[in-house]
Amino acid sequence: MRQYEEAKAAHPDAILFFRMGDFYEMFHEDAVIAARLLDITLTSRNRGNPDEEPMAGVPHHAAAGYIARLLTFGHKVAICEQMADPSTVKGIVPRQVVRVITPGLVTDAEQLDARANHYLVAVDAAEDNTERGIALLDLSTGELSAGMIPDLASLLGELARCDPREVLVGGGLPADVKKGAGLAAPRAVLRDDEPLDDGDVAATIDGAVAEPIAAEAAVTLPLSARRAAARALRFAHKCTPGSPLPVRRIAPYDPTGAMRIDETAQVHLELVRGADGSRKGTLLETVDATVTPAGARLLRRRLLAPLLDVASIRRRLDEVQAFVENPRARAELREALAKVGDLERLSVRAVLREATPKDLGALRDGLLAAPAAVAATRSIVDAGELFGAEVDTLPELAAKLAAALVDRPPALAREGGFVREEYDAELGTQRRLARGGAEEMTKLEAELREKTGAGSLRIRFTRVFGWYIEVTKTHLGKVPPDFRRKQTVAGGERFTSDRLDELADGLENAESRALARETDIFEGLVRLVAESAERIRKLARTLASWDVAAALADVAHRQDYVRPEVDMGEALVIEGGRHPVVERLAAAGRFVPNDTTLDLGGERLWLLTGPNMAGKSTLMRQVALITILAQAGSFVPAQGARIGVVDRVLSRVGASDNVARGESTFMVEMRETATILRDATRRSLVILDEIGRGTSTYDGLAIAWAVAEHLHDAVGCRAMFATHYHELTELAQHGPGVANWSVSAREHAGDVVFLHKLVKGPASRSYGVAVARLAGVPEPVLARAKAILATLEAGAALPSGKHATMRGRTKQGSVQLDLFAKAKPDVDAAAPVLETLRAVEVERLTPLDALTFVARLKSLL
Ligand code: ADP
Repeated sequence: MRQYEEAKAAHPDAILFFRMGDFYEMFHEDAVIAARLLDITLTSRNRGNPDEEPMAGVPHHAAAGYIARLLTFGHKVAICEQMADPSTVKGIVPRQVVRVITPGLVTDAEQLDARANHYLVAVDAAEDNTERGIALLDLSTGELSAGMIPDLASLLGELARCDPREVLVGGGLPADVKKGAGLAAPRAVLRDDEPLDDGDVAATIDGAVAEPIAAEAAVTLPLSARRAAARALRFAHKCTPGSPLPVRRIAPYDPTGAMRIDETAQVHLELVRGADGSRKGTLLETVDATVTPAGARLLRRRLLAPLLDVASIRRRLDEVQAFVENPRARAELREALAKVGDLERLSVRAVLREATPKDLGALRDGLLAAPAAVAATRSIVDAGELFGAEVDTLPELAAKLAAALVDRPPALAREGGFVREEYDAELGTQRRLARGGAEEMTKLEAELREKTGAGSLRIRFTRVFGWYIEVTKTHLGKVPPDFRRKQTVAGGERFTSDRLDELADGLENAESRALARETDIFEGLVRLVAESAERIRKLARTLASWDVAAALADVAHRQDYVRPEVDMGEALVIEGGRHPVVERLAAAGRFVPNDTTLDLGGERLWLLTGPNMAGKSTLMRQVALITILAQAGSFVPAQGARIGVVDRVLSRVGASDNVARGESTFMVEMRETATILRDATRRSLVILDEIGRGTSTYDGLAIAWAVAEHLHDAVGCRAMFATHYHELTELAQHGPGVANWSVSAREHAGDVVFLHKLVKGPASRSYGVAVARLAGVPEPVLARAKAILATLEAGAALPSGKHATMRGRTKQGSVQLDLFAKAKPDVDAAAPVLETLRAVEVERLTPLDALTFVARLKSLL
């Protein structure tokens, strides 16, 4: 218990898993918490004594699942292992905490999403607090990047983009990081108050990794970035004290080098996560045809951080094009890659000494598949220029693993049986001895049975009891005198004999020698893999980028995408553009393509009108998604596209559900609008859907008008603005950059038919009533609505009637127009009835509708 208390004192904030034989035991508070959360039995140690204490345990081979559960509840878990074989130690086995698992530092494949990175993010400010740094550590792949963050808004943007499981906040950073960081997913935000002197940064970094990297980082990274990296590494190293971290460099992370897609736009455009939080219906799901986990992760990162640099974008497009033009190379590459698996994460597990025989087997399969992938890519003309000249596929390591491991190695090392017998002479000898021993046992059994005449005599083995001879009651009389009784069981007796003991010893010896030998070989292989980890990761990165290119080519081929032209021009020209996600959900051939041109030198602000359900927001999202795809280096769903690079995509689409955060829809809408107006630059693409809807008509119109004007005059960016305020269409007269467009619909016998086709000019009417009918609003209500509409369109204000609600407001002095100022009272009384009667479509009324209708008419009088 003293050992336990010491370990616990070093990790007071973690639940301590204390290894005792085949179990991890927990004590005190930890036991109580774990028993409740894991649904395991709470027992106690020293029951009935004054020092009785709660205790709970989980079998060590099933620990991963329990650890995962504790992490989801926000706990950390510290693993305290036995550091020596108990049978070789006198007294108490030495124990040590070898690993602390926190939500951000998971390496177990079961707990990781294979297709997404798993980040721990650290943020830190320099001592004089002038600049802020950010570091992203994915321990499971060994990647670390760090950079400077210009302001809090971009910090929140970056957090949204990389979606960390854990955020470490150090130095004098504002507390709202926590609020912002909690937006999308449950994340643990920890304050790291341990001081970090500027002078200690390099030592802290190098102290955590195997080979020094701080000096190189100092050349490219500002101090604040290195501080953040040091914090991330210090934290991670404390959690894996046994081995240096698998990090080989700090990559520069430049948030300003990528298109910014803030969290709101990410959510609105459903880039990687849909409204329900899953991948379903997202852009990522639609274009992710990658076949390796590392490829999937890379594509996800690229979609969330499209490039700004034209040359780099074109290089990516060249790669995709090469695979579009070489379908055979593409197919062969993808076939080979499908066997590659997750080389990146497997190699890291080897570095952390967490690899299992199964992991090594997977690594072997991956390495063996690599040459075929290389050959497929090489078959493309000019491949060297596009895909790099030499690729190191680590043939010696692959051969070694192939020679050593059986075809399908087990997940656990402790039972052995994963090294090929032929691989090692000593192992072969012991295995043969063991096999020979087992045969001897069978022979001995037959011999004894014959000698004694006891037909029921059996030689058996159990783990607890070892080898024994069992004879049933009926044959006990035939037992020879040299048998020694070991145990009495229900059906008979168990014996042993000198010969049996001798054989059993030999067998056990051979088995344990074989296992020891296997363990040695295994550890050697793990070490070998760990030493090659950097080479493996380099190969994995290469294969991942090919995977992405081939996958995008595959999508381009299947979905009929084209290569976009990307330049620094100011236009955004899309011919026959389609919404990548909606087109796949629509029946084949039913999606209507549209041409859109936004141009800083021409029409840069589109006012988009049209009935609800016509396809306005689909169209606007389509323009944004095509831009994002193009700059991420993908072909796009269109007949042709020219994309003048966009630096930010800002959007406000639909009413997002923020009721949980206690804000009204209108408040959220205005907050998002404010962000857009503040952040948009001339190079940005802004998409606004129905702003001003959450407030009264005049308020809303006024705000929408002012926002549109500001975007046009002051920001001067490319923007699309869908609105239901027809009055807004008059803004087109305001300046040459504003244009009216509408998505057409046709009314046919009172029903509306959506054509989804863009036409120049404002929509003629709103079709709201027809859409309401489509939605099943009862006829009498529709008739009344049409009557009111007619009155309004005639230039009057809202109607009267017993239930007219707007009059109250008028009296309170709002700007509401007053119908009664113009109309005579007696005519007025009958007017709504007449209007409603004129508007009703008798042939659509059911008998019940008709009755309701008459009642309604009466109530209007
Ligand atoms: P709005 O924003 O005008 O209310 P939406 O963009 O939400 O309309 O579109 C409504 C529905 O119409 C979409 O869910 C989609 O199924 C369909 N739709 C939109 N645009 C197209 C199109 N170009 N071709 C075919 N169907 C479309």
